[in-house]
Amino acid sequence: MSIQQNLSEIKSSLPENVTLVAVSKTKPISDLMEAYNAGQLIFGENKIQEMTEKWESMPKDIQWHMIGHVQSNKVKYMAEYVSLIHGVDSFKLLEEINKQAKKNQRVINCLLQIYIAEEESKFGLDESELNQILTSEEFKQLKNINIVGLMGIATFTDNQTQIKMEFQNLKLIFDKFTVHNSQFTILSMGMSSDYKLAMECGSTMVRIGSSIFGERNLKI
Ligand SMILES: *Cc1c(COP(=O)(O)O)cnc(C)c1O
Repeated sequence: MSIQQNLSEIKSSLPENVTLVAVSKTKPISDLMEAYNAGQLIFGENKIQEMTEKWESMPKDIQWHMIGHVQSNKVKYMAEYVSLIHGVDSFKLLEEINKQAKKNQRVINCLLQIYIAEEESKFGLDESELNQILTSEEFKQLKNINIVGLMGIATFTDNQTQIKMEFQNLKLIFDKFTVHNSQFTILSMGMSSDYKLAMECGSTMVRIGSSIFGERNLKI
């Protein structure tokens, strides 16, 4: 099936309150343009340099989401244009994003990444670290960032019960914190293999790559 067909099939399965991020990492601009021409305006990338190259040469009404792990020293390259940073997992990184946003006279929207998987390799905060950040005085001083919700990545497994438990756990944390943080509106969870389950568990933003663009080739 074509990119356009994949997109329209996925979109028709999403309820109105769920936003689709088309994950285009490693894919050529021609593929992204096919999705753009079919009406897709939100793209997710996991490497700042690759995202910046695509931003430079593509239409300016596209919203670029950084979905990968972010190194502090690279924030400056995307601060001018990035629309949402999904994987914020430390206060230090928030400070850097705030600093670079200020330089660009912007407020940058961020999601805090919560660690929900069983894998050691995944990044993210636990609930008490999240609480610590949100209630600290230093955090309140950061005027150029806006925390709009949470993001999580489930364990890479075929065990649906486990994935479901991890999503439910994240949703619980999300609900607890929405009470005190009314600007928390986005719960980013779900990828090609598990987005339907994620939506059942309350996801409001799904990050889908291979089901739209096909399997990724290894980057040379
Ligand atoms: C690559 C990636 C996705 C998309 O994965 P697919 O399985 O291709 O849909 C979603 N979220 C993150 C954080 C990713 O790195």
